[in-house]
Parts: sequence; C-alpha cells; structure tokens
Amino acid sequence: MSAPGTGPDLFGRADGMLAVGGVPLERLAARVGSTPFFAYDRRLITERVAQVRDALPDDVRLKYAVKANPMPALLAHLAGLVDGFDVASALEMRHALDTALPARRISFAGPGKTDEELAQAVAADVMIEAESENELARVARAGERLGMRPRVALRVNPPFSVRGSGMRMGGGPQQFGVDAERVPALLQRLGDLSFEGFHVFAGSQNLRADSICEAQRHTVELLLELADAAPGPVRYLNLGGGFGIPYFDQDRPVELKRIGENLRTLMEERVRPRLPQARVHIELGRYLVGEAGVYVTRVVDRKESRGTTYLVVDGGMHHQLAASGNFGQFIRRNYPLSTARPDEPAEGPVTVVGCLCTPLDLLGDAVELPRADVGDLVVVYQAGAYGLTASPTAFLSHAEPAEVLV
Ligand SMILES: *Cc1c(COP(=O)(O)O)cnc(C)c1O
Repeated sequence: MSAPGTGPDLFGRADGMLAVGGVPLERLAARVGSTPFFAYDRRLITERVAQVRDALPDDVRLKYAVKANPMPALLAHLAGLVDGFDVASALEMRHALDTALPARRISFAGPGKTDEELAQAVAADVMIEAESENELARVARAGERLGMRPRVALRVNPPFSVRGSGMRMGGGPQQFGVDAERVPALLQRLGDLSFEGFHVFAGSQNLRADSICEAQRHTVELLLELADAAPGPVRYLNLGGGFGIPYFDQDRPVELKRIGENLRTLMEERVRPRLPQARVHIELGRYLVGEAGVYVTRVVDRKESRGTTYLVVDGGMHHQLAASGNFGQFIRRNYPLSTARPDEPAEGPVTVVGCLCTPLDLLGDAVELPRADVGDLVVVYQAGAYGLTASPTAFLSHAEPAEVLV
C-alpha cells in the first residue's frame, strides 16, 4: 500500500506488532494513556540525519527547519545531530534557544516578522533572514534600541522557480524574500547591520533529484553574482532544501546520492574558488523527520453504508490535516495506513474516516487494511512533519493529542 522503503517498512516489529522506538504499539498506547497520539521514532531520525550527512560533502552544513515539527523533545534530540536550526516564529525561536545549540547557529526566516519578534532575535544573537527592505530597516532600528549589531542574511526571491516542487516558494512575484534584481542596490544600504550572506528557499516536497540539482546550480550562480555586490565577505550561503518524502504509491524516494555529488561539484568548482570563507548550508524539515512519525488512532465505530465499509476512528483531519488531502494538495490521495499488525493480509477495501462532522475528514479512501474492529488501532504513516503543527486543532473542539518521542 505504500512506496518501497517507506511507511510500515521503516518501523520495527515486536511479535508481529508495529513498534515505534522498539515499543509495540499497544503498549505504547497504554503508556501514552489515550488515543489519538503522535509518536516519533528517535532512531529513525538519527539514521536519517546520518544518511544525509553521508551523502553531502563534508563542508556543507545541515540545518533543521523547525516548522516541520517543533516538538521540544524532538528539537533537543536534533540539536545534537544538526549544525543549526531555522525558525519561523518567536515561539519556535524560544524552543530552539532552549536546546544545547548555540544561538549563533539559529536563523529566523519567514514573512511578517513583527518588531517584537525581530527585537527578540537581535537580543538573542539569532541571525535574521530578512524577507523585505522594510524588514531590514526594522531590524536596524531594533539593533539601535538594543545597542547591538544585528546579524542578517538576505532571503532572495530567485528569477527562476523549481520544477517538481509540491509547494512553490520562489520565482515570479512572492511574499518571500527580496527580488534578486533589487538585491544589489539594497546591499549598498545595509548601514550598521552585520551582513552574513544569502538565503534561497524556492520549494518544498520535491522528489526529483534532477530538479533539486538544477535549482542548486542556479542558486549558486545567482548567489555568486550577488556576492560581488556585497559590502563585505559573504560568510553564509543557505541553498534551501525542499527534499521530499514519498507519500503515495507511485512516489519514489529522492536520490540523495545524486544531490550530494552535484553539491560536491558545485563546492569544488564554483563556491570554494570564489567564496572560500562562505559556509554553505542545506536546510531540511520534512526530509529529516517526516518518515519517523506515525499518527495513532483507535477505531470507534465500524459500519456499512450501501456497500462501503467505514472505520470511524477517534482522530482525524484536526490533527493530521495533510493526510485528509486538505493541506495544499491538488488531488486527494491516501497516505499509507495500517493497523497495528501491518503484515497481516488485507480484508478488502475499507474507508477510514475521522470523527469530525465533515466529509473532508477522510483519512483513507477504499484502502486495503487487515481486519480492524472497534477498539483496534489504525496508524497513519509519514506523520512526522507538517502533522499536528499544520492542523486545525481547534476545529470541533476535541482534545489535543499527545506527542511522544520514543
Ligand atoms: C518550510 C521551510 C523549510 C523546510 O521545508 P521542507 O520542505 O520541510 O524541507 C526550509 N526553509 C524555509 C525558509 C522554510 O520556510
């Protein structure tokens, strides 16, 4: 029911039962005390970071984009594995600052940062990835008020977009970043700011290594050109990320090795000769944590309606919006699902719905599952990124689900 090497395949088993962090799912449910809940497998995250580091050149640094999953315990775990965090709000920044990672390794991106947020970042010595001219001016004022020299990078809206991205965040008009053609003039007006370098992030959920490589080539050329107009040495180049994970049958995992080889060539031939002092960063959210998480629900009702078998579970789109197909998808397709015993034979198609009073609350449309009755667990995979954090938890006023790192 899912792409090879994803979903149920990644997790272990204990006597045939799915295990997260080695704990069989029913025991984990008893430990948590209630369903639904999210569980993240620590070992899978550690392994994924190691795979990325293995593929990337040694001199390319790896950042975690906190908005993919801001759970504090997960940040504490990742703080020991990655080189930096990228945050997108004051609360994400506070959680990032609570970890062992030094503040100087944290960057703050995203449109619409308020004066209060900017002041907090400056006071913390977090680097601000500025999204507009106006924001830069406000950062400068925050620095004056605090008697500090803010560290800034410019987020650049490139003239190109990235093919194959599930969500486009660069090219054409954008709320993100400063249009590339306006950057040289802006670089002359930085005043007292400590200018570190550039940031480009042009798209999310891309499974195509060739598109990612092409985007990285174009990004490096663009930033080398812009670096000529910088007032001082460029120390920071954030090339973005956007590596996708397979959600659906026809999806294939991104070919990490090819991306690593492409980056190695870019570093040797383009970046090192031109900007020897620049630290190059790749910034990943979904790819590091998305496959390490499951959303665990329990069947509340099993009913037939005119030939369709429905499993009604105690969770739904208010916790796991993306699995319902309502988080920016063009076409609704099923996320990988299973019962607590994924390797048992399927009983035939069933439709898994959540407990909200809307037909949008659909978790699995005619999915092949082993027999599940009232009281059995149903698991949604690929739930480690943009799960709870990207869901309308207040909708229908159900309780917030627990999150555990195992
Ligand atoms: C969301 C975001 C990311 C992470 O994107 P993923 O697709 O989850 O890897 C990285 N950088 C910025 C600036 C973002 O806004």
